[in-house]
Amino acid sequence: MSIFIPNEYHKSIHDIDLVKLYESGKRLILTDLDNTLVSYVEPLPTEDIRLFKQKCDEIGLTLVIISNNNEKRVKHFADELGVTYLAKALKPFRRAYRMLTMDYRPDEVVIIGDQILTDIVGGNRMGFYTILVDAIDYNTESWKTKFNRFFERIIIKKFKIKGDKHGRT
Ligand SMILES: [Mg+2]
Repeated sequence: MSIFIPNEYHKSIHDIDLVKLYESGKRLILTDLDNTLVSYVEPLPTEDIRLFKQKCDEIGLTLVIISNNNEKRVKHFADELGVTYLAKALKPFRRAYRMLTMDYRPDEVVIIGDQILTDIVGGNRMGFYTILVDAIDYNTESWKTKFNRFFERIIIKKFKIKGDKHGRT
């Protein structure tokens, strides 16, 4: 088992089976923002993200945004979507996760994100259920993220993370 390996991998958040997550006891989704919900250059929730949030509400899953990006960007987006958020979260460090999940058991928490070195590593270290998705747009990423992607490609090659993968190997 490795902290680099997600429990599930999907092309997009819209391919995630939210009902199945609920039925397996999950109650809180901590999702990344940039390149997971929308691209870096999209300031507001798109229609399909509003529908995603609505689906979470209907099923009984609480959606919270956890992002390493700045307060202004994340607040604007989260307020529009009507969800709680934490900006400048310093993923993969544990502090932000602890703050946001105080009322939950680790096995009730799901992490969704597009980056192995921040989202997936952070979630796995906390014992949460982790879901990796493809980045929406690689071209608009910052140099820091591009730097992380270099190591990510090595990890993906090593662990062969591809296809619809369920459960760790
Ligand atoms: Mg991201």
